[in-house]
Amino acid sequence: MSDLPDGVTRRDVEGRERLCTRGRPVYGEPTDGDWRVWDASRSKLGAMLELGMETGLTGGESVLYLGAANGTTVSHVADFAGPTYAVEFAARPVRDLLEAAEPRSNLFPLLKDARKPATYAHVVEANLDVVVQDVATRGQASVANRNARFLAEDGRLLLAVKARSEDVAERPEEVFDEVRSELEERYEILAESRLDRFHTDHLGIVARPR
Ligand code: SAM
Repeated sequence: MSDLPDGVTRRDVEGRERLCTRGRPVYGEPTDGDWRVWDASRSKLGAMLELGMETGLTGGESVLYLGAANGTTVSHVADFAGPTYAVEFAARPVRDLLEAAEPRSNLFPLLKDARKPATYAHVVEANLDVVVQDVATRGQASVANRNARFLAEDGRLLLAVKARSEDVAERPEEVFDEVRSELEERYEILAESRLDRFHTDHLGIVARPR
């Protein structure tokens, strides 16, 4: 089992050992008053950590998070990371995301389209440590490739791929093969794991830029 980043821990909350970060609750998750449960069944990155994937996260990293939705996962990321840029293109969830960002001075919501990195390149710092992606739309490898420009040479992509978003009719294994080969244009894949225990037909990938 890989180490958890600093700022992420396992604690007994409501009688059960749970993955937790420290911060103000966001989505009604249980808390012991200080630490709040990071629910892996509601978070692909949480699932990657629960499954012991080698994410390379140590805590304090600079992060670009693509597909932030209403802030469930990115709020946990901001609890243990450094500057965290959260891109989401749907206006409705961004309202909740703004609320999650309110008590987190390192979380920067951006109402932007992750397929168009040039529209936020002037805001997001260069040479980031980590890009986290969970966009669940067609063209997931293309989004990751376009955003490789933000990563430092030794940075990491932590990607959740949802097979059914690419093609509902195709077998997930075939979708994952296609995503892998497109990703390899810009990244070297370091680790991968199916996330099905928490998220059906999803693959978690850890990669570094080429
Ligand atoms: N990552 C979120 C979490 O764990 O809390 C859940 C993300 S949800 C599965 C996918 C999100 O990606 C949706 O909110 C969707 O609007 C957003 N999305 C999809 N395509 C996008 C794009 N091109 N640019 C920005 N956001 C996108």
